[in-house]
Amino acid sequence: MKALKWIWMIAGVAVIAAGCSKSTIYTDRGELLPSFCREWNPDFQYNGGRCAFNLSGVQRKKVKGCNLSRKQFSYCGDMTPAQVSYSNQVNSSRLDALTLISNSDRSQEQAYLSVNDGFLAEGRRVIPTAFNHVVLRFPSRCTNFGTDAMAGMIEWLGHEIGKAYSGKKFSGIKLVVGDVAAPRGGCLWGHGQRVCHKSHKTGQDADIGYLTPRPGKSSPVEFHQIFDPKPNYWLIKKLFHNPYACVKFVFLDRRNIKKLSREAGSDPEWQTIKHYIQHAAGHHNHFHVRIGSGPGKPGCFSPDLQIAHNSR
Ligand SMILES: [Zn+2]
Repeated sequence: MKALKWIWMIAGVAVIAAGCSKSTIYTDRGELLPSFCREWNPDFQYNGGRCAFNLSGVQRKKVKGCNLSRKQFSYCGDMTPAQVSYSNQVNSSRLDALTLISNSDRSQEQAYLSVNDGFLAEGRRVIPTAFNHVVLRFPSRCTNFGTDAMAGMIEWLGHEIGKAYSGKKFSGIKLVVGDVAAPRGGCLWGHGQRVCHKSHKTGQDADIGYLTPRPGKSSPVEFHQIFDPKPNYWLIKKLFHNPYACVKFVFLDRRNIKKLSREAGSDPEWQTIKHYIQHAAGHHNHFHVRIGSGPGKPGCFSPDLQIAHNSR
């Protein structure tokens, strides 16, 4: 049985690693090849047959910043055969996502161009299991794809929640994950389809619900406005310590940032991480977490550099 699991794991790695080599991604001058963008970027046509709109001089018809032809509830149709296969294998417990991500020697990038105008290649799906306590806000929407760093961070966070809130008393604890990115990234309309996300295009942004442990009961499985600073400060610290992805920013409503600040009290670590938690309107019921390309310190850069501001 164990041998069979390893065979599936190796097969999974092979499927996921079967991407393009570097030479088929960039020109000799280091620019992205249009053929690569055509293959992966769902907004390629919208961008005028270019990798990104901002690489062209063409005027973009602004439709609240997003591609109208991508205005849909579900993005499941964007999935590659490899992503379908991976989903099936994790769902049938033939692959352990955290082990796979930890052992992955993927050298290829997955997030291309900017978080506001880019796309995701070979994205990895965040899949709820008994071990990660993840519950997807919209399971049928297929907007739970990220880079390996993102998927590893969420998976690890779920495992840590399970360790900290163990036992029958907390068996119903959940980590609510909203939109991350579509299977190939690109333009992503909100679930109400009134406005699109400004970012969430490269698999490096995730909406995460507030941690709400309820002894003897199940946690809510939706975003909500009840913000208990104690478990959520714990969650924030875990996020910044995760070994898979450096956290660039956490966007949150200022009222809840104040609550975190009071909870942190004299914790010396707050003096560092508070710089990377920023107010953003509309974040009164969830965190928006933006990561960099790999593990690292809060902010994803050395402390002597300025904090880079970016849109949600
Ligand atoms: Zn968001």
